Amino acid sequence: MSFEKIPMSTPLVEMDGDEMTRVIWQLIKDMLLAPYINLNLEYYDLGLPNRDKTNDQVTVDSANATKKHGVAVKCATITPNAARVKEYDLKEMWKSPNGTIRAILDGTVFRAPILVKGITPYIPSWKKPITIARHAFGDVYKNSEAIVPAHAKAELLVTLADGTEQKYPVYQFGESAGVLQGQFNVDESIESFARSCFNFALDTKQDLWFSTKDTISKKYDHRFKDIFQEIFDAEYAKKFAEAGIEYFYTLIDDAVARVVRSEGGFIWACKNYDGDVMSDMVATAFGSLGMMTSVLVAPDGTCEYEAAHGTVTRHYYKHLKGEETSTNSVATLFAWTGALRKRGQLDGNQRLMEFADKLEQATIDTIESGIMTGDLASMSTLPEVKKVNTQEFLEGIKERLEALLGA
Ligand code: NAP
Ligand code: MG
Repeated sequence: MSFEKIPMSTPLVEMDGDEMTRVIWQLIKDMLLAPYINLNLEYYDLGLPNRDKTNDQVTVDSANATKKHGVAVKCATITPNAARVKEYDLKEMWKSPNGTIRAILDGTVFRAPILVKGITPYIPSWKKPITIARHAFGDVYKNSEAIVPAHAKAELLVTLADGTEQKYPVYQFGESAGVLQGQFNVDESIESFARSCFNFALDTKQDLWFSTKDTISKKYDHRFKDIFQEIFDAEYAKKFAEAGIEYFYTLIDDAVARVVRSEGGFIWACKNYDGDVMSDMVATAFGSLGMMTSVLVAPDGTCEYEAAHGTVTRHYYKHLKGEETSTNSVATLFAWTGALRKRGQLDGNQRLMEFADKLEQATIDTIESGIMTGDLASMSTLPEVKKVNTQEFLEGIKERLEALLGA
């Protein structure tokens, strides 16, 4: 092999993870990256045993390193529940690593599907990816709720910094008991969300859609709409015009109808709850979870790339028993290519960017040639499909990658 390895001048932050995705992670590095790149990685082991050992400090350290270096790639990780505390004999039920990282980077999560020929979306008019941007702060996820007895009177009480009280009527309950909920959001977070969305649209040269229910929620949702518009007009209108892309606001109901009729190829920014629901709808309609990528983008442009799926526990237990698995590595692989391309862009490393393109191409070519993992094989419309195991799929990619690299 006469291939000169690609240099990397600046470190990429690597966050290792758990279970089947940890197995795939190592295979990807050994087979598809290390032979071609002089990998410059700052390694953090976010596998659950090490998070427990370090009292979760490793998660905080990895997020701070990401702030410093600008780009990270993350493997899926277990968010512990009671069963995991037992399984791993944990000191504590550690918080979701993604939540911790997101809080430190103050980012927005963008989820996009990878499209290949032969895997047709359930909505056949969708020809290009639809990227969902979810505002992952506040609203119903940080609410305060109560069960209210009959004849109770509910009011919102706001105490200002100077002690002045403001009251807003909610409801005078009658014969029936009921429920009550209080929610909030903060301008600063909505502003960060807006900037992350506008930056990501410019980065990926796609139109940005934003939708809320501002006709019904005339203060709360309307505030979101106004903040987006003000920031767009002041900071982004000119850049969007130059890039030939648009910012488009519409009511959430109208957005849903338009999305279904669209060809795709845009970013849809959603409030927290809408994004939670719509991202699952879009992911399912595009096909497999194994084809869904995710990137956390901070308002300053710092990026953390990962697969949208979890650690694929069911496959891991099979793997541990020595049984064959057919786990889709595409989303994890595209997390690596996304991060390497971004590193290349930041460092002016042309070869690294080209390598990322070629590795993605080799992956898509492999699937379009009929070689795929079980999740895809079961939904492929190609005439000839060969279902391969986890390792064989990566070997198929490697063969095509070497041809593209001339290695
Ligand atoms: P999951 O790991 O995404 O897997 C759910 C099911 O989806 C799998 O059992 C499998 O279906 C299918 N699937 C997902 N990814 C696949 C792939 N790459 N290839 C083939 N099939 C795939 O979700 P989960 O089982 O709910 O969660 C497992 C663990 O992951 C949990 O401990 C959770 O905390 C963690 N998690 C982490 C993240 C993250 O780090 N971002 C996100 C979500 C969940 P079949 O079994 O039918 O083949
Ligand atoms: Mg959801």
